[in-house]
Amino acid sequence: MNFLVFGPPGAGKGTQCKLFVTRRGFVQVSTGDLLREAIKSKTELGNKAREFMDKGLLVPDELLLGILTDSLKSMDKNFILDGYPRNLNQADALEKVLAQVCKSITAAVFLEVPSSVLEERLSGRRVCEACGAVFNISLKKTRQEGLCDVCGGKLIQRSDDRIDVIKERLQVYEKNTAPLRDYYKKKGLYKEVDGNKEEEQVYSSITKVINL
Ligand code: AMP
Repeated sequence: MNFLVFGPPGAGKGTQCKLFVTRRGFVQVSTGDLLREAIKSKTELGNKAREFMDKGLLVPDELLLGILTDSLKSMDKNFILDGYPRNLNQADALEKVLAQVCKSITAAVFLEVPSSVLEERLSGRRVCEACGAVFNISLKKTRQEGLCDVCGGKLIQRSDDRIDVIKERLQVYEKNTAPLRDYYKKKGLYKEVDGNKEEEQVYSSITKVINL
């Protein structure tokens, strides 16, 4: 089975997906991660995407369609879409891409988290430069300040986790991504989970709503 996770920035999409990857063998398709890799490798896509990401804006739909199609085309395992679609146009595009590659999703899981919590999660988030593990300076501290508990790598703040950019991302979410809730309700795929709980509780709720 394949499914997608959506919700506001900081809802815990990436964290939950990683649990499904390590415990259930899913492949995580995160457009945010794909774009950050493209930026690191200084590809043409990365250079174009960076200016939008640094401002907290959505990367234009047409820039993303290629990488999304490529990753789904070669997919030979169950996958979770993390961070795609982020607007109605992308949701329509996704349907077409899935049909082209003869795949489908069985659920669209929405992670519900109040906006006051989102700001704290995002502004305190620190990511390991080496392995990508995610921590938080107040909510999920590391044993040694500034160093990753998993691999000892250096922790950094994502450039779009600065407070001014966070505010923009939350507005962009309300305007563009929140309407997907109705979209997936109409398709009969919508599932809602309280994302304002401990990681393990959220994980267990997701497994229940998708009947895993
Ligand atoms: P994320 O890692 O999912 O929080 O995404 C980080 C940033 O990447 C977003 O703020 C957008 O600028 C960009 N991005 C990721 N996914 C998409 C998408 N589906 N559509 C447009 N922009 C995206």
